[in-house]
Amino acid sequence: MASSSSLSLASDLQLGVGGMASNPTLLCVPLVSKSVEQMVVEMRQAKANGADLVEIRLDHLANFQPRTDLEILLKDRPLPALMTYRPKWEGGQYEGDENKRFDTLLLAMELGAEYIDVELKVAHEFMSFISGKKPENCKLIVSTHNYQSTPSLEELGDLVVRIQAVGADIVKIAMMGTDITDVARMFQTLVHCQVPIIGLVMSERGVISRLLCPKFGGYLTFCTLDAGKESAPGQPTLKDLMNVYNIRQIGPDTKVFGIIGKPVGHSKSPILHNEAFRSVGVNAVYVPFLVDDLENFLNVYSSPDFAGFSCTIPHKETAVKCCDEVDPIAKAIGAVNTIIRRPSDGKLIGYNTDYIGAISAIEDGIRGSNNSGPHAVSSPLAGRLFVVIGAGGAGKALAYGAKEKGARVVIANRTYERARELANIIGGEALTLAELDSFHPENGMILANTTAMGMHPKVDETPISQHALSSYAVVFDAVYTPKVTRLLGEAESAGATVVSGLEMFIRQAMGQFELFTGLPAPEKLMREIVLRNV
Ligand code: NAP
Repeated sequence: MASSSSLSLASDLQLGVGGMASNPTLLCVPLVSKSVEQMVVEMRQAKANGADLVEIRLDHLANFQPRTDLEILLKDRPLPALMTYRPKWEGGQYEGDENKRFDTLLLAMELGAEYIDVELKVAHEFMSFISGKKPENCKLIVSTHNYQSTPSLEELGDLVVRIQAVGADIVKIAMMGTDITDVARMFQTLVHCQVPIIGLVMSERGVISRLLCPKFGGYLTFCTLDAGKESAPGQPTLKDLMNVYNIRQIGPDTKVFGIIGKPVGHSKSPILHNEAFRSVGVNAVYVPFLVDDLENFLNVYSSPDFAGFSCTIPHKETAVKCCDEVDPIAKAIGAVNTIIRRPSDGKLIGYNTDYIGAISAIEDGIRGSNNSGPHAVSSPLAGRLFVVIGAGGAGKALAYGAKEKGARVVIANRTYERARELANIIGGEALTLAELDSFHPENGMILANTTAMGMHPKVDETPISQHALSSYAVVFDAVYTPKVTRLLGEAESAGATVVSGLEMFIRQAMGQFELFTGLPAPEKLMREIVLRNV
C-alpha cells in the first residue's frame, strides 16, 4: 500500500528520532470544585498525573473566606498556582464588589501565588490598585474572552497589542469557535506574538487549539482531571493529552494528521494512530477534526504541516472532489477515506483503504485465516452472490471490491434510487430493504451490512430479519461498536461464518498508516490497541 508520495514523506517525518525533546508548553488543570478541601485533593491528583500547574477558580468556591481559604490553598501547594477570580461579566461566577475582588487577588499575590489572572476590561484599574506591589516572582496574565465567536486575525492582533500595553507578563485570549477554521487564525496569532501567550478556541470545533498548542508556541493549555470537570467547553483530559496525544513531544516540526468527520469525538482513530506513530518513532500527531465544510477546511489548513487526513462520515464522497488527484480505485468507488498532502508539490491525493480492508477481511474470514498478508490463491469471492446493504461510502467500497473479485453483486438500500445508481455503475442488481427479507435465490450467499444499523447505542437494530439469514454462508458487519452486533450474533446462530467490522477497521487503518508514513504498519500492535480500546 505504501506509495511513492508517502515514501518521500518518511524522511520528512524524521524517522527514528525516538526520544524527542519536551516542549515548553505547560499543562494547567483548572480546579472548579465548590470546596477548598476538594481543591486541595485535586491539586495533589493533578501533580500525580503530571500537570505543571493548577488554575484555582476562586469564583467557584462556595462561602469563600479569602484569608483563611487562600492560606489553605497556597500553603504546601504541590504545584504552582494560577489564581483566577472571574466575574460574571466575563463568564465567571463572582458577582460582588470589584474592590473586594482586587483585594483578594492582591492577597493571593502576597501569599506567593505564581500567577494572577485579571480581565483586560479592568486591567488598568487593577494595575493602579496594586500600584507596583506585584511581587517579582508573580506573573500577571491579562485575559479576554469572547463566548460568541472568534474575531478576524486583525482583531486578534489588536487584542494582543492592547493586553501587552497594560503591562501583562502573559497574554490570554480565549475565543468561541463556531468553525474549525477559526483555530487557524488563533494559531497565526500565537506564532506571531512576541510575548508569552495563551491562545485558545473554545468548543468542540476548537479542540485542536488545545491539542496542538505546543506546535504553535502557546504558553499553556488547559486540561481536566476527568471528563465533566471542564471550566470552559472543549477542554481535553490531562490523561488524553499525555497518553493519547503525547503532547510533551509535540513541537514546531511535528507533522499533523487527523480524522475529518462530523461527528468525530467518538472516533478511536486518534488512540490507534498516535500509538502506532509513537512505536516507529515518527514526529507526528493525529487529532480529531470536527469539520462542517470540507473544501473550506482543506483550503485554510493548506500548509505542509497538515500532512494527511482520514475521512469519515459525511465527507468521504465530497473528498473525491476536493483532492487534486484521486487514486483510480478511489475514483471508481466514488469515495476517499484517506488524503495525503504530497510533500513534493503540496497537492492533495485521495485514496480508499476501506475497500481493501473490508474485502481482505471477508476473504480471510472465508479462508479461516487471520493473516492480512498477500495470498497467492484466487479470491474465495469469485462467482459468489454478494449482497451489500447500504449504498454510502462503505457500501460503494464493498460493492466495488466484491465485483473486482469476481462476485455477482446485489445492493439493497433504504433509498432504492441510490441502490439502483450504484448497481448500474458496478454492474449488479438493486433491491429495496423490504425485498431483502424474501431474497434467497440460492444458498451460500455472502452478506455485508454497510449501514449504521445496530451501531451503539442502537444495538437492538438489525438490517435483515433472522429467518432470512439462513441463506447466507458468510455475514460481515461494517459496524464494530459493539464488537458483536445483533446481526453478527443472529448470523452465527444461523450457522454462518461471521466477519467483524473490527477487522475492516484495523486493516483500513493499517493502509492509512502506510500512506501517512511510507512504513509498514505495526500490525500486531495495531490489533492490540484496537482490542484494548473497543
Ligand atoms: P454513509 O455514506 O453515510 O452511508 C450510510 C448508508 O447507510 C446509506 O446507504 C444509508 O441509506 C444507510 N442507512 C443509514 N441509516 C439507516 C437506517 N436507519 N436504516 C437503513 N439504512 C440506513 O456512511 P458510511 O461511511 O458508508 O458508513 C456506514 C457505516 O459503516 C457506519 O456505521 C460506519 O461506522 C461503518 N464503517 C465502518 C468501517 C470499518 O472500518 N469497520 C469503515 C467505514 C464505515 P440511505 O442511502 O437511504 O441514506
